[in-house]
Amino acid sequence: MRSDPADYQLVAPGTLQAVVTLLAAEAGTWLPIAGGTDVMVQYAAGKLPARRLVSIWNLSELRRIEVLSSEIQIGAGCTYTDLREHAMVGREFPLLASAASWTGGIANQNRGTLGGNIVNASPAADSLPALLAYDAELILVSVRGERRLPYRNFHTDYKKTKLASDELVRAICLPRQFAGYFCYTRKVGARNAQAISKVCIAALGRTAGVVIEDVRIAVGSVAPVPLRLAETERVLKGNPIEPSLLALARKTAVAEIRPIDDIRSTAKYRAAVAGNLLEEFLEKLGARERTA
Ligand SMILES: Cc1cc2nc3c(=O)[nH]c(=O)nc-3n(C[C@H](O)[C@H](O)[C@H](O)COP(=O)(O)OP(=O)(O)OC[C@H]3O[C@@H](n4cnc5c(N)ncnc54)[C@H](O)[C@@H]3O)c2cc1C
Repeated sequence: MRSDPADYQLVAPGTLQAVVTLLAAEAGTWLPIAGGTDVMVQYAAGKLPARRLVSIWNLSELRRIEVLSSEIQIGAGCTYTDLREHAMVGREFPLLASAASWTGGIANQNRGTLGGNIVNASPAADSLPALLAYDAELILVSVRGERRLPYRNFHTDYKKTKLASDELVRAICLPRQFAGYFCYTRKVGARNAQAISKVCIAALGRTAGVVIEDVRIAVGSVAPVPLRLAETERVLKGNPIEPSLLALARKTAVAEIRPIDDIRSTAKYRAAVAGNLLEEFLEKLGARERTA
């Protein structure tokens, strides 16, 4: 059923403090709207349960990227274009810069925000595996103050998160500790642009000789939440990259994921692709060492 605009209220208090004060005063009744690229799709489909929207678009407090000595703090209101254009993000966090470059089209990248991608909580969202691989932490804000939460603990089930109804995501923090890591990321979809991922992966690896010293692998679209493959990482760490390890890693990864059949793909296809991407990552990690 089409939505009638007269049924909706949209306010734009203009400061972060005013927004969190409103959220606290009438907790659960106001839905924040940032770029609106998810919210407006729901609205247009007549599936937006909220009737009262509070705009956080362009709040200066959410639009900053702060580079500190130990971490980068990306304001939750930063758009994909902001991320693509930030030299340090591209240099030190290429997994995130790449995800930003293939999220939707240019119009979507000018409007869609990282905070919106996180809170919309789609298991197929493109930037979320990168945040898992980089061990991101979220700064959540409300009238009660701020708290930091490891991003890996944020999603509790399909579309369920630890965000309280009076809280906003203020910033996403990435530790600056990945110099020298090999980076690998891919999105597999029906086409390169404007397609929701069937499987996406973001991975980092560091080797000493042929032995894997550290590895971080995160996958989207293969479980109710974006998934870090902890067991697969455990199997890989401390071992030389060789065919038997690749086979064990694939088997472990396929046991860790929980893909489903849906309109975009099948569980079987997703499991096969996730295994192929993992192998490709490990082969490239090994090849880098052999050619170094
Ligand atoms: C044409 C099109 C193509 C797309 N392609 C892709 C794609 O390739 N890959 C992909 O991952 N996504 C894609 N998307 C989805 C969407 O663009 C992203 O999820 C985007 O990051 C959402 O950000 P937003 O600011 O528009 O969120 P909004 O729609 O404003 O909000 C989404 C949700 O997040 C909440 N929210 C937003 N910001 C905050 C905050 N700071 N604190 C608390 N809650 C907040 C809102 O209340 C709402 O529940 C596409 C969408 C469209 C319309």
